[in-house]
Amino acid sequence: MIAFISDLHSNLEALDAALQDIAVQKPDSIVCLGDIVGYGANPREVILKTREVSQIVLLGNHDAALLDDRDAAGFNERALRAIDWTRVTLDAEREENWPLWDWLGSLVPSMEMRLGAGEMVHLVHASPRHPLAEYLMPNFGPDHERVAGSFACARQRLTFYGHTHHPGWFVEGEAFQRAVDNDAVLQLDPGRRYLINVGSVGQPRDGDPRLCYALFDGARVLWRRIPYDHQSASRRILEAGLPSSLAERLLVGR
Ligand code: ZN
Repeated sequence: MIAFISDLHSNLEALDAALQDIAVQKPDSIVCLGDIVGYGANPREVILKTREVSQIVLLGNHDAALLDDRDAAGFNERALRAIDWTRVTLDAEREENWPLWDWLGSLVPSMEMRLGAGEMVHLVHASPRHPLAEYLMPNFGPDHERVAGSFACARQRLTFYGHTHHPGWFVEGEAFQRAVDNDAVLQLDPGRRYLINVGSVGQPRDGDPRLCYALFDGARVLWRRIPYDHQSASRRILEAGLPSSLAERLLVGR
């Protein structure tokens, strides 16, 4: 069994609560689909912990924007401010921070992996066609150009992704199905192809402020929704001087 975490966004309270729940589930490994930083107030702690617990970590668009300004093209004002704040906080002039920058710089946004003795799966941050930054929004129909393009570029039957912060799945030929509630389950049909969004640990956007992550055992995907101290995470964003809307959205999950 694999636990997929994604879009942690420097939210230490959420990551800690997710890891506590993951410890109870006892997966064989933890895979992070990127966006370790951005938006939240604890980049250093979240980077260190993610690096320590995960077998695989992908690069997200916010991680890429931290490394290189050119990847911040298209970011809105508050996302840009958070990246600038993170860059100052993880001061690259200080030798103690060099290993963090080296590690972030070693990450890639797309990878394939085999689950135990089972099938290969494709892992991306955003989409199979543009692994770093293309949005596969939940309101896209099955014929949407980006959905069709994703299935065309998917290297395996199953693709796991993050980026939109909306948990759920596309099965080829059908509209997105949202994974709502704790313990929402997708029983995989062995004859069909899927794009599976694991949700966001650090900044859920589907109207539910509880953190989200997903468990995959080869036959089914199960989404966990876990309450955490989002008020404290929100307060820390304000104390750090980050845009207040970033604090407010954690309270409502938008
Ligand atoms: Zn994200």
